[in-house]
Amino acid sequence: MTRKQRKTLWRILIAAVLYIAALAAPLEGLPRLTAFLIVYAVIGGDILLKAVRNIIRGQVFDENFLMSVATVGAMCLEEYAEGVAVMLFYQIGELFQSYAVGKSRQSIAALMDIRPDHATVERDGQQQQVDPEEVAAGEIIIIRPGERIPLDGIVEEGTSSVDTAALTGESLPRETLPGHEVISGCVNLSGVLRVRVSREYGQSTVSRILDLVENSSSRKSKSEHFITRFAKYYTPAVVFAALALAVLPPLLFGQSFSSWVERALTFLVISCPCALVISIPLSFFGGIGGASRSGILVKGGNYLEALASVSVVAFDKTGTLTRGSFEVVAVHPEQTDERELLGLAALAESYSDHPISRSLKEAWGREIERERLSDAEEIPGQGVIAVVDGKRVAAGNLRLMESIGAEGAHECHLPGTAVHIAVDGVYQGHIIIADVAKPDAAEAIRELRTLGVRRTVMLTGDARKVGESVARELGIDEYYAELLPGDKVSVLERLLAGKKEGENLAFVGDGINDAPVLGRADVGIAMGALGSDAAIEAADVVLMDDKPTRIADAVRIARKTLRIVRQNIVFALGVKAVVLALGAAGLANMWAAVFSDVGVSVIAILNAMRALDTRPRT
Ligand code: ADP
Ligand code: MG
Repeated sequence: MTRKQRKTLWRILIAAVLYIAALAAPLEGLPRLTAFLIVYAVIGGDILLKAVRNIIRGQVFDENFLMSVATVGAMCLEEYAEGVAVMLFYQIGELFQSYAVGKSRQSIAALMDIRPDHATVERDGQQQQVDPEEVAAGEIIIIRPGERIPLDGIVEEGTSSVDTAALTGESLPRETLPGHEVISGCVNLSGVLRVRVSREYGQSTVSRILDLVENSSSRKSKSEHFITRFAKYYTPAVVFAALALAVLPPLLFGQSFSSWVERALTFLVISCPCALVISIPLSFFGGIGGASRSGILVKGGNYLEALASVSVVAFDKTGTLTRGSFEVVAVHPEQTDERELLGLAALAESYSDHPISRSLKEAWGREIERERLSDAEEIPGQGVIAVVDGKRVAAGNLRLMESIGAEGAHECHLPGTAVHIAVDGVYQGHIIIADVAKPDAAEAIRELRTLGVRRTVMLTGDARKVGESVARELGIDEYYAELLPGDKVSVLERLLAGKKEGENLAFVGDGINDAPVLGRADVGIAMGALGSDAAIEAADVVLMDDKPTRIADAVRIARKTLRIVRQNIVFALGVKAVVLALGAAGLANMWAAVFSDVGVSVIAILNAMRALDTRPRT
């Protein structure tokens, strides 16, 4: 309980004692009124103040206003006991709500229990325990078995297995060797690791994720906007309905004012939309928290909502549907020998982060003589142009060869992606590399189809025949090949134009040169983001591991959350409608009104908490 909540609790207790005393005391007339006014001031003074302050600010119709009018009205009708009781129960309900919201936020924080509490840093040969925030990039930290990894870094010494479950939802530990990257927030399981910190705490994965989850509730979903808009019309509407209820029957049918005024006041108490106002953001918050347990980071309720009605999914190929770890299957030199061609390609590509370049460097396997390299430029979707020993080396696809005017470049009879190489515009031959589909890629497409996704599309910068064979293998409806990053955006625009009303388009990429497309889609999903900043920035939804089946998981979680939101809206409005009708007919008194409101809130909050419960798959 927070201090504010504790204060409210004390006020409620004091008011309750005074209330009982006022009821029991044998008072009549003015002394009786004074006694109840004192209790009323204790319990409802702040509500009255808030109502007045909001009226001055121009926000007339809110809960405070409803409660103030209803209770002041009751006091005017000399229904002192009821007027005070309504305030008392209203405050109890509010306290319960704020407690429940706090609790659920806490439990999300606990689920996301990835915040490291200390780091053991090595300074001047001494080990010191410090706050992770005090460690600078470049320092050495020691991580013992069982400890949480406090900062991102590279293993210098030691082997171990690392449990990434808290971040990815994946239960299989990862083997970690010297040279590997370790990600903060994971747990070191078996061996002692000496790690060189690569990023300070504020930039490390763990604090980025925590920021993301904490900020996610500030991006409002359409349902939340709906509630705000709804309240804007709803509250004035019920106030006028209450006014009509108080005035019309007595005027038209000559009935007694006091009984109709009382009905109108009851009507006002019932109308308070607390349950709705509170439970909907809470449901989204729960859905976001539950998703993050499965390694799915959703940047806001609006994206959960968009995900739930996704019907077109476009994929990037390399690194998203395929592993992106290419194996060199053939080297076809036309001027030099195989070793030299491969070495040249690896050197020219040495500054690139593209999966193709990483595989070439791996296949080369030797030291790269960077001093031979004087300039390097990456041309997204085509390849690289670098200056090696003063000569201009181009490595990339046929489009690149064409643009530099290298004659004689030609397709290869082998299947796979070709990296063509030219030196000073003279064609040198090509290297054929093969990538394989991820093991669960076909399953991911099937699952999406079961979930009602009617169109799957693959966008790739790779050659047509590679695109075709991957699309056929995975069961993807359409593919577009040989696209530059800019072309991907225009294909996406066309897909966006072709979807029906109310449908959403998701684009899934690996964050390497597809940020513009991620940004343009209704929902941009980046995968394999463990440690990749660009992807975390650009996407709306970030999948921590690189399994395509997580996309279907994300859609399922989104749908469950929205189902809960809808249940809460229907339930809360339904109960309201019934009790309002009863109140107007004089069949529900103020007590019923208060209890129905608190009851609906409690049930709606409990239902909202269900959104948290998403079982991560292994
Ligand atoms: P995808 O759309 O499949 O993710 P990219 O847009 O990253 O692929 O790249 C498209 C094509 O451009 C690749 O298939 C390759 O032919 C070429 N290419 C891109 N970057 C490089 C590079 N660093 N080295 C060689 N070729 C490259
Ligand atoms: Mg790619």
